[in-house]
Amino acid sequence: MSELHTDIRYVKGVGEARAKSLAKLGITDLRSLLSYFPRAYEDRRAYKRIDELTAGESACVRAMVAAEPRASHIRKGLDLVKLRVVDETGALELTYFNQSYLKNTFHTGETYVFYGKAEGTPRRAQMTNPLFEREGLQQVTGRIMPVYPLTAGVSQSLLSRAVRQGLDACADGLDDCLPEQTRLAHQLCHIRYAYENIHFPADEEALAIARRRLVFEELFLLTLGLRLLRSRRAGAQGPHCEALDLTPFYSALPFSLTNAQRRAISDILRDMTAQRPMNRLCQGDVGSGKTMIAAAAIYFAAKNGLQSALMAPTGILAEQHYHSLAPLLEPLGVRCALLTAATGAKTRRCVLSQLHSGEIDLVIGTHALLSPDVAYQTLGLVVTDEQHRFGVSQRAALSQKGENPHLLVMSATPIPRTLALMIYGDLDVSVVDELPPSRQSIDTFAVKSSYHERIYAFLRRLAAEGRQAYIVCPMVAENDTLPDERKAVTQYAQTLQAEVFPDLRVGILHGKMKPKEKEAVMRAFAAGETDILVSTTVIEVGVDVPNAAVMLIENAECFGLSQLHQLRGRVGRGAHKSYCILVSDNTGDDNLHRLRAMTATNNGFAIAEEDLKLRGPGDFFGSRQHGLPALKVADLTCDLELMHEAKAAAEELLAQDGDLSAHPSLHARIRELFALSAGAMN
Ligand code: ADP
Ligand code: MG
Repeated sequence: MSELHTDIRYVKGVGEARAKSLAKLGITDLRSLLSYFPRAYEDRRAYKRIDELTAGESACVRAMVAAEPRASHIRKGLDLVKLRVVDETGALELTYFNQSYLKNTFHTGETYVFYGKAEGTPRRAQMTNPLFEREGLQQVTGRIMPVYPLTAGVSQSLLSRAVRQGLDACADGLDDCLPEQTRLAHQLCHIRYAYENIHFPADEEALAIARRRLVFEELFLLTLGLRLLRSRRAGAQGPHCEALDLTPFYSALPFSLTNAQRRAISDILRDMTAQRPMNRLCQGDVGSGKTMIAAAAIYFAAKNGLQSALMAPTGILAEQHYHSLAPLLEPLGVRCALLTAATGAKTRRCVLSQLHSGEIDLVIGTHALLSPDVAYQTLGLVVTDEQHRFGVSQRAALSQKGENPHLLVMSATPIPRTLALMIYGDLDVSVVDELPPSRQSIDTFAVKSSYHERIYAFLRRLAAEGRQAYIVCPMVAENDTLPDERKAVTQYAQTLQAEVFPDLRVGILHGKMKPKEKEAVMRAFAAGETDILVSTTVIEVGVDVPNAAVMLIENAECFGLSQLHQLRGRVGRGAHKSYCILVSDNTGDDNLHRLRAMTATNNGFAIAEEDLKLRGPGDFFGSRQHGLPALKVADLTCDLELMHEAKAAAEELLAQDGDLSAHPSLHARIRELFALSAGAMN
């Protein structure tokens, strides 16, 4: 076991500098090295005689050095070593660039195996920089070799040599985290075989066997981790809630709730009055009215004497929630406060003390609500809005703040069913699949940039009717330099203001602005003091300006499908007919697919399915979005069957050993994988 934690610097050929480059690939010790899997393979098994070589094809040749190599110095920085090798069928001319030392490596009469791409004609066969090895000592020729994803300072040969060493060093130290019974029941190979053959497969079959085992293991660990997160809370006592009449809340609303909203609320109330802590995901398209669902839960908690915390991913969004919820909830006796990075020191102190003493029922904020100095009197409900920015471990951290508070997660990122199973394995799900009746579909057009004149005229006409518009620009890099979003957005906005819309008020919003500045700009736009808001994707999440009727997206090819859909959801939030215009000159297949999907449907779930097809599920994983361990080998689009198998196996194991106390090394591995503290998953 200890071998696996050996620092990567102790591997031969890896020094301080290379260790730094390897760290960029996430390789720091032998374990991470061995878990750095190839992205592809190169089949170097084909042996050819010299007269069988075909130009353009790679092959191994067993040949003898026919004469002493000739070295020549062409010019500064260009040295050649040429040598002639032969077999019984012909001669092959080899050229090595800038490796003068090779002159003393090869000697007449010695036989080597060379691997490279054949060039020239059958009569004058040539190879440039072929690999070579002494016969019988072959490591990189005559076999299937791994092809790894690289970074600056890390070459294929460095990686494959390091992995080879790592495999040899750990040969007997690799301990199998899969329980023996699971491994046998599902006909999975041993861990040693799997690691050996995922890196250096003996043949295709060995690779398939190795891969199957590693995919299974990955999905098995993922399922177990999610189940443990969930059961950690399931065994706990939730904050106590009594059923009570919500009529005062419903009567205070300016509209009646949709059936989907009502269903979600009744799911939530059922959870909160049960004895265990709620773990619920409320998943609904943009504009489906999730905020009101959260409000109902918050009202219900407050009337049960419990405090609520509502976390949003940005200060703007937190502020907006505060301004829409406080006027609704305060008159009903729910005392609300806002706490973000922009909150002044004095107000902050006051809010903190009131939270501690229980004088505040609802606090709305950002990550600040996670900081250790925020103490609650009786935190009973935690709501996170736009879940895709809050990972599993953050959920775990926050829920430790109270006595296992009820947890409600709101997400506007529809996840296809197959993935939801995996990603939200630790949550119950309510789907809000209905939009408020007032909502109209958003007419969506995809056009070329030559349409700009017409688009601007259209914006002007709508502005004359009193509507507002968003213009979103991606961060386009010019000349491969670092993208400067501030410059791009500012320049475009200035041009629009000066040359296109001199009579309208153009605002600017980008991620480099201070929170206070952003809020001021957003507030001005929400109040109708600007007509057109030129912005980067900071407006992506949840901001609500009902009077905005156009979403114009420049260089639409720079955005993913789900992101385009999220952006479109910023309009069509009021009574006005709304439009989304996607500008793109890119005629690539992927881009055309995305644009077509956008113009064809307004349905977020359909978009998500399409996105899954186009991009694969990779994006749904990785710590960035969900805090889940990234899937390294599994591909959920084609490994579905194995996923079901792994899931069933995980459940079977938990049925016997619910807290994995009989499988300590498995338990430790899962904790490591989810990067959770021991306390967060017990
Ligand atoms: P999202 O699900 O994207 O968070 P919001 O909660 O922000 O959606 O709601 C979008 C808009 O719809 C808000 O202006 C909200 O007041 C309004 N709304 C919510 N529920 C209803 C409803 N049942 N009928 C009419 N309008 C509603
Ligand atoms: Mg929302």
